[in-house]
Amino acid sequence: MHQHAPTKRVCHVCDGFAAAVITTGARHRDGTRATLRVTCPACKGTGHTAPATAPALHRVGR
Ligand SMILES: [Zn+2]
Repeated sequence: MHQHAPTKRVCHVCDGFAAAVITTGARHRDGTRATLRVTCPACKGTGHTAPATAPALHRVGR
């Protein structure tokens, strides 16, 4: 009877690092750095996979 939080699975695509902020090196006109926020397409930036039924996953890349 080992049930270890079955609803919380770490996304195997991004390993839990669902969102990354990338510095482009460019700057906005107000002086702040321009950054890109990239989220994992598989888990939508949550870091966890949805349990089982996720047909949308197969549509990535057509
Ligand atoms: Zn992910």
